[in-house]
Amino acid sequence: MGWKHCCCWLLLSVPLQADVFAPLDLPAPTAVRTAIGEPGPAYWQQQVDYRLSARLEPATARLSAEALLKYHNQAPHALPILWFEFPLERLVDTKQSAPLHPLPKGSRPPQPPVVAPSGLQDLEVFAGEQVLEVRQQGTFIGVVLPAPLHPGEQAELRFAWALQLPDRLDPRRPRAGMETLADGRLLVALTQWYPRAVAFTDQRGWDLTPFLGDAEFNLELGNFDVRLSAPADYLLFGTGELQNPAVLTAAEREHWQAASGQSRVTQAGAATEWREWHFKAEMQRDFALVAGNAWRWQTKLLDLPDQQVRLQVAFPDNGRWLWQRYALAATEHSVRQLQAYLGPFPVNTLTIANIAGIGMEFPGLKLVGFRGPDAAIDGPAPAYSRTQKHDVLGGIMHEVAHAYYPMLVNTDERREGFFDEGIASFLAYLLEQSWSRSFQSFYGDPAGVAPAQLRPDYAAPVTRADHFVHKLDSHYHVPAVALVILRQQLLGAERFDQILRDFTASWAGKRPYFADFIRFVSAQSGLELDWFWRGWFFSDRHVDIALAKAEILLKKPESSEQLSSFLRQQARRAGEPLLALPASLTAEVEQQWALQDHYSAQDDFGVLAQASWQPGAAQGQWLRLELHNRGGIPMPVTVQVSTADGQQHQLHLPVDSWRASQQQLQLDLWLASSETIVQIELDPNRLSGDVNPANQRISGPLPVVLLP
Ligand SMILES: [Zn+2]
Repeated sequence: MGWKHCCCWLLLSVPLQADVFAPLDLPAPTAVRTAIGEPGPAYWQQQVDYRLSARLEPATARLSAEALLKYHNQAPHALPILWFEFPLERLVDTKQSAPLHPLPKGSRPPQPPVVAPSGLQDLEVFAGEQVLEVRQQGTFIGVVLPAPLHPGEQAELRFAWALQLPDRLDPRRPRAGMETLADGRLLVALTQWYPRAVAFTDQRGWDLTPFLGDAEFNLELGNFDVRLSAPADYLLFGTGELQNPAVLTAAEREHWQAASGQSRVTQAGAATEWREWHFKAEMQRDFALVAGNAWRWQTKLLDLPDQQVRLQVAFPDNGRWLWQRYALAATEHSVRQLQAYLGPFPVNTLTIANIAGIGMEFPGLKLVGFRGPDAAIDGPAPAYSRTQKHDVLGGIMHEVAHAYYPMLVNTDERREGFFDEGIASFLAYLLEQSWSRSFQSFYGDPAGVAPAQLRPDYAAPVTRADHFVHKLDSHYHVPAVALVILRQQLLGAERFDQILRDFTASWAGKRPYFADFIRFVSAQSGLELDWFWRGWFFSDRHVDIALAKAEILLKKPESSEQLSSFLRQQARRAGEPLLALPASLTAEVEQQWALQDHYSAQDDFGVLAQASWQPGAAQGQWLRLELHNRGGIPMPVTVQVSTADGQQHQLHLPVDSWRASQQQLQLDLWLASSETIVQIELDPNRLSGDVNPANQRISGPLPVVLLP
């Protein structure tokens, strides 16, 4: 069976949309970022190295800290001010509202709210012994240097400050703070706790986009040397490698060295004594810790090709049955698969910690909030839903995937949250489906994209996370679906996988923008995909390609007998005889071989096809299909025709079929068979993310149109 087709363009009076096939308006390539999406010969980025020392007092949720930092100005510009950020300042209402509602000159600022537990206190910045001017603007801290920092120079600054840590469950999702367990014991997420340098980039200069709670972070890479003192009954996990295993008690050290994967329960120790923990991390974008006096701790050394990774899982010792059973296995699965898929795992120690509130990725440390039912941790399996289980597993897989984006490939989470979240969600979809084919994946399945894109307030993924309400739809699900479609439909899995691996290697330790990714994919694949990026990322449209009409074209036959026999055959449903004979009658011809002729084995249309009236070659038929693009995103279309004898014929229309008419498309297809058509269906494998499969199918009998 073969296919031929021709496309005709319907000139109908439909409203014109902006041309989805127009070239994308990307920032011009430079010597920093090339036209093929790679770092250019003049690539630069800033580097900020930190020596941090701090004391954590969990009982009062207070941190006092000091930082010695070295800012390496590798930009080709002199910088008179260096900008840093303390995102937790957003939680201090009076300060947050100040820039939004300036007070008239001379009026008194409003009193701080009675409960203002969070905030930066006692901040001082020094260069040597000199106290420097600090300009605070919302979450940003500008440090005015004694003299501009010229290209190639380094500034050494000393910060001293204290921080009051918020509640982890603060509705403004601080990604840091305290969780108090039912028995009074504490877990602490010590994140965003030091003066993190605001990104200074070739495209934006200082990225002073304010932190409003949802759009995450745009950070510089640097080296960390961190010492943190905490009460001796607290166990700490941090980014990087523990430098002083002697800080561990004998029992803890034995557990750490055995790395057997078994659980060890933290025993409350002498809370009046202190322990100082020492970590180092090289060229990471951030440094975070968790501390707690209620951890259950599992650790294991995972041997991978050319690499050994220490895996650690920490969860509260008060009923995390799902964690006890699945967390370490899910972490191991993720690291193993990702290393095979994307290349070397970016860190040598990875800790997954279960703490209340929003999940969040940091280098070498991932926080996951899902926990399942509170059931006796070593007791029998509690009742739990599939969703609860897959939230824990999927949450872990998603956060581990962030080890590559944005931790290794340092993307800009604040402006391009869809970039790292989209890739992490796509990778998590692969991890989930390779964990179990029956995994209930919340993100990534093209057949499940409709609820996200059909919301009336659905917004384009290329939108800052603070600018819409459904962040999980626009930054997680839809970009993940788009990447699955790019892989399965447009590039092919092998080509896509190679391109993603190469992009990751090309930008490891560097900062790409999404425009670089677009250019890279194009240069590596040979495909111009501007319509795809525009439709799936830059627009709030969706895919809804409807099969609006299907009919059979027939050149008017010379005799009505020929026509009626054709129509009789087309009207027949699959498997049904033309006429149900009464049981008392027998089909004479079927009984007597001698009575059979070619009409017995072949339908009359097939025989008549040899006559002159049928269009095209013998034994075939013309189908006319009308496709309507109702969602706005054009896509390649697979047309599947099923015939009464059980055959299925597929035709793959390239996306270019939509170039001349972006709303409606008329196709005349030659099906080289006169078989009865029982169904025509678009996108039979549900791979194009079409939100409305109900309008993609027409079942026979099809109307017949007589051509003059
Ligand atoms: Zn994420």
